[in-house]
This record gives sequence, structure tokens and C-alpha cells, in this order.
Amino acid sequence: MTFYSELSPSPRTIMTPGPVEVDPRVLRAMSYPILGQFDPEFTSLMNDAMEMIRAVFRTDNQWAFPVDGTSRSGIEAVLVSLIEPGDKVLIPIFGRFGYLLQEIAERCGAEVTVLEKTWGQVFDPEEVISAIHREKPDLVAIVHGETSTGRIQPLEEIGKACRELDILIVVDAVATIGGVPVETDDWCLDAVIGGTQKCLSIPSGMAPITYNERAERKVLRRKRVEKGIRQAGDGIQTGGLDGFSPVRSNYFDLSQLQDYWSPRRLNHHTEMTSMLYALREGLRIVLAEGLDARFARHRLQEAALIAGLTKMGLSLYGDASCKLPVVNCIDIPPGVDGESVRSMLLDSFGIEIASSFGPLKGKIWRIGTMGYSCSRKNVLHLLGALEAVLVRHGVRVPQGLGVQAALDVYDQVPKIT
Ligand SMILES: *Cc1c(COP(=O)(O)O)cnc(C)c1O
Repeated sequence: MTFYSELSPSPRTIMTPGPVEVDPRVLRAMSYPILGQFDPEFTSLMNDAMEMIRAVFRTDNQWAFPVDGTSRSGIEAVLVSLIEPGDKVLIPIFGRFGYLLQEIAERCGAEVTVLEKTWGQVFDPEEVISAIHREKPDLVAIVHGETSTGRIQPLEEIGKACRELDILIVVDAVATIGGVPVETDDWCLDAVIGGTQKCLSIPSGMAPITYNERAERKVLRRKRVEKGIRQAGDGIQTGGLDGFSPVRSNYFDLSQLQDYWSPRRLNHHTEMTSMLYALREGLRIVLAEGLDARFARHRLQEAALIAGLTKMGLSLYGDASCKLPVVNCIDIPPGVDGESVRSMLLDSFGIEIASSFGPLKGKIWRIGTMGYSCSRKNVLHLLGALEAVLVRHGVRVPQGLGVQAALDVYDQVPKIT
């Protein structure tokens, strides 16, 4: 018989692009008693969450709800519901998560065309728009904030061009929602997927999404009647009629998910009670801070961190004009073992920073400044610790100046913590 020790995770300072630290109020929310999913008290919490998702995504869309699963589940639900086999899909790729969109779209049976950009850069919107004119896709899928390279793609012109041509545009805003402006309606985005464990600072496990009537129209054409729940006379067309193919997933079928989240509450899955509590409390905290104040806080912590890192003699990776404010990519100094630095930060200081993927593996560190982790205390703690660790690794660092440079930035804006 094995006896396992009582669960006792070490306190950490998490400065990665997710998962990040969570406000204790959100953790507390997860410990409350379970309510039944059709209990009016619970459905009213579900409605609150929908309203708050609309506010965070800056949209008046009727449909705004979480998909149960990690952010990837939201991406998959949107793509599998909107892409019919044989549809033409255009995907501009500028990092790892663009390839994820491609992979999912291909699994949906799409005829995919990709545009690829050298990592560290983003697309000039005109490049994407001319490809849209050339390819005439049914749908464009694109990442907003690429966590793998720390870049942000401007979307407004691309969204408006898609609307003019009546093409659907789907956006992965997993890394940006709650940390950087995402203007669903103003930028004419048809479907947007957010993430919980990044700038919203809620544990991983749900993917808030929103989509408009244009997207809904496509979803409804593919609707299937589920025996025992819905009936043919329900005002529902049966998928497969009129040449439209039914959505190939039950769990991720947005037509069923929206019935579940609508006042009809048609049974689908069992809602994740504790995650819904966390989502509602996390979004409440985001909106109480105020989106603009929250974006300003992310900008300030970014500025302080960058000032400190630069003063320490470290260089930043990528094109500065499209830097994602919530992810900071640093070139690993020549001759330094990046993984050894990360291990020492974790073991001696309890700080976690991220490595990187694919072509950037071993070349850069990625430091997140996201959500609850994005604080003055964490930035200063990290700068002090990194200096000590780099000195230990034989890097010549002007000692003490990194923290001082960050403090200088804070002196200019004393109110924000
Ligand atoms: C983190 C991330 C994802 C994947 O999220 P999971 O919650 O791990 O499924 C997708 N896209 C982007 C841009 C991300 O940063």
C-alpha cells in the first residue's frame, strides 16, 4: 500500500505566457459547493458569465459563452462548426499557434492555403488582404497575439476587408484577451476565441468564445437533430439536407452548445460547475479593474521589465514595432545554457520563466507579464533574481542597475502596482 503525501504545491512566481498566477478570490470561488446545472441559481451565474464575456470581448453578439476544455477546445469548436469539408481556408502564419490553426482546419477537411512569415515579424495587413482577394477563401483564420514569438498582428483592416468580401474571419485571441485591446465588433471579427490561463488569470480549463450572426448562420445550416433531446419540428433544419454537411463533432458542435447556453437550456454536457465559478469571479475582477486600466497596467509592467532587462545588457528578440505587450522574448546571451538559468531561477528563487519552441528553441527565453502575475512585485523580484543567476552563469551584468531602471519607470507612474 502506497501512502501519498498531502497535496501541497510550492508557492511560485509565474512569469510565463501561461498558465499564470491566479487571484486568491478566484481560487476561493472554486471551492464553493456544487449547484445543479439547471438550478436557477446556477443558470443565473451562467448568464452573468455570458454578459461578462461580451464585455471583455467588446461585442454585442448574442453568443458569448465558454467551451469546456482548454483554449484549444474553443478553437476547435469554432473551426469544426464553421468549416465544411472542401471549404477554402486561408491562414496567415507567423508562429507556432498559426500552425495549430492550420492543423485543425486540415482535420476539418478544409482546403487550406497558408501564408508564412519569418518568425519575429507579423504581416502587413495589405499582404493578407491581397491574398484574400487572390484566394477568395470561405474563411480566414489568424492568431492575434503569438505567444511563441511575442508578436501581435494588427487585425482591424483585415477584419474589415473580410466583411466587405463576405468572408468569415476567425481569430485566436487566447493570449491577448484581458491584457491587450481586442475589439470584436469594431474590427468586424466574426468569431473570437479567448483563453482563461493567460491575461484573464483564471485556471486553464475553459475557453470563452464569441461569434456573430454571420457565423451563426453557417452553424445553423449544419444543424443535426439529436434524438431524444431535439425533435424535427423544433424549428431546426436537419444537417445534411440541402447539401450542407452536419458538424463532425458532438462535443464541439456550436449549434448544440448555443442551445445549451440559450434560455432553452437543452441538455448537452454537464457544465463544469467549479470552473464556471472561477470564470465568473475572474471576469468580475477583470471588469472591476476596468479594461482600460488593466491594459495600462500591462503596458507599465512591460515598460519596467524591458527597461530593467535592457539596462542589464540583454537584448530583445523580434521586430519591436509589433511586440506583444504581454510576452517579452529575450535573446539568450552567447555561451549561456538557457535551461540552466531557468532551473536556477525556479530552484533558488521560485520563479518560472518559459523556454521556446521550434526554430527558437534554446535561443530565447520568454517572460510573460500577464494578469495577476503582471505586478510590480513580480517584475522587481524577477529582475533581481535574474541578475544574480546570470552573474552565477558568468555573464557580466552591471550590478544593481536593472532593478534601478525598473524603479525609475515606476517613479513616473506611482499609482499602479
Ligand atoms: C496558449 C495558447 C493557445 C493554446 O491554449 P491551451 O489552453 O493550451 O489549449 C492557443 N493559442 C495561443 C495564441 C496561445 O497563446
